[in-house]
Amino acid sequence: MREESLAGGHGGAARLGELIPVALGAMAAGVAERGGPVPAGGPAAVAAALTAAGGGTGTLPRTGVGAERALAELSHLLAAGSADPADPACAAHLHCPPLAVSVAADVVASALNPSMDSWDQAPVASELERAFTTGIARLCYPDAPGADAVVTSGGTESNLLGLLLAREAAPGVPVRPVCGANAHHSVARAAWLLGLPAPVVVPCEDDRVLPAALAGALAAVDGPAVVVATAGTTNTGAIDPLPEIAALCRRAGARLHVDAAYGGMALCGPELRSRLAGLDQADSVALDMHKFGWQPVAAGLLAARETGDLAALSVRAEYLNADDDTEAGLPDLLGRSIRTSRRPDAFRMAVTLRALGTDGIGALVERCCATASDVAALVAEHPGLRLLAPPALSTVVFRPVAADELPEPDEFVAGVRRTLLEAGTGVIGRAALPTGPDGAPRLWLKLTLLHPHATVEDYRALLEKVVATADAERAAAPGSPVVS
Ligand SMILES: *Cc1c(COP(=O)(O)O)cnc(C)c1O
Repeated sequence: MREESLAGGHGGAARLGELIPVALGAMAAGVAERGGPVPAGGPAAVAAALTAAGGGTGTLPRTGVGAERALAELSHLLAAGSADPADPACAAHLHCPPLAVSVAADVVASALNPSMDSWDQAPVASELERAFTTGIARLCYPDAPGADAVVTSGGTESNLLGLLLAREAAPGVPVRPVCGANAHHSVARAAWLLGLPAPVVVPCEDDRVLPAALAGALAAVDGPAVVVATAGTTNTGAIDPLPEIAALCRRAGARLHVDAAYGGMALCGPELRSRLAGLDQADSVALDMHKFGWQPVAAGLLAARETGDLAALSVRAEYLNADDDTEAGLPDLLGRSIRTSRRPDAFRMAVTLRALGTDGIGALVERCCATASDVAALVAEHPGLRLLAPPALSTVVFRPVAADELPEPDEFVAGVRRTLLEAGTGVIGRAALPTGPDGAPRLWLKLTLLHPHATVEDYRALLEKVVATADAERAAAPGSPVVS
């Protein structure tokens, strides 16, 4: 039974060499069939395509069709039905097109399947992870030779760990999280999961925490506090004033966790690095290499100034890190995650950095940010569009001017976005920002540029689609002025 062939061991590479071209051929055909950034027709069309391919019955097949056929059919379906971040018009989220070198490394990692919960399942993978995470930690904390980092599933888990470390640093006393109104939703969720009080939410201006408001909030907290600052907000890419925030935390004796899930890898860019000044004063830092870093999900990291700062994660399980094994010199991996079985995600991150270097990654980050500036300039000079503000990183926030002429501007903006999505011609993000009267939320459109090879001309075409859609929808809106 060739379906029963293994990926590893004797003959594994040869069998993979047969199957991978089948999958890749089907993938290429599916991408060509899609033609745009996302399948046209919305959820109903996608569900119908799955049913037509015989995969939508909700019953597990009792008999198989064989490896080649299953791979070919479903790889084609996946490619044709994906929102593809390698298409420049797929620009809604912090959803990057992965580098080929990383995906190739992931095939090897999957075939060998090291599991990062004990040394006897991952001898060299664990050493590689150690070396790689130390390098990441030193990127965040250049003046702390003992800095360390652990691999996570992403910013959500890193923020959870940041708050967990703060909780464990003050045993027996409830720690109060304090974050900006710009903070990622996972901060409040982490507080909830950890049994901490709900975060004190500090007001922002231009999507950045107001230091005076933070000072007031810290003064009002009774007991220990952990401040969560953001370096690259989800809505606009704004970077909180980290040096001021770090100084306020020091003065108040509060811990500081910086959520740099989006902006962290800008540390690799010589032009951008200074925007993250103050990051090294944090007690912990969250970074995501599945954003700037061009890794497939998941590729999260949590860095801390000292290995000992991560000691709260230590745990004993006799079958994974028995004391006598540890005393005999087997590294204890279990305390490097809150997970047990864990993929060697650091392997493809390490391969990527070995291939490109921090200079290569930094150049890609800077290219995306430079393109975002150029796209923002296009928006600013377009008579049909309004720019929110110059981008802090690679996020361009804008609105069709036509929205302001209608009684329900936010519904109109939301409708333009959905029309492009359902047509399969553009995947654009949305951001509710306090730009209305008295700070009321208003809906904006958002391009999050993570495609390192897309040009300003690609985005000019996407912006023209937005304007054409807005014009058509305004003309169709009841009671709207007639378009000339
Ligand atoms: C993406 C992001 C997160 C969440 O990260 P995941 O990797 O999706 O878990 C948290 N905070 C910020 C600022 C982010 O950009």
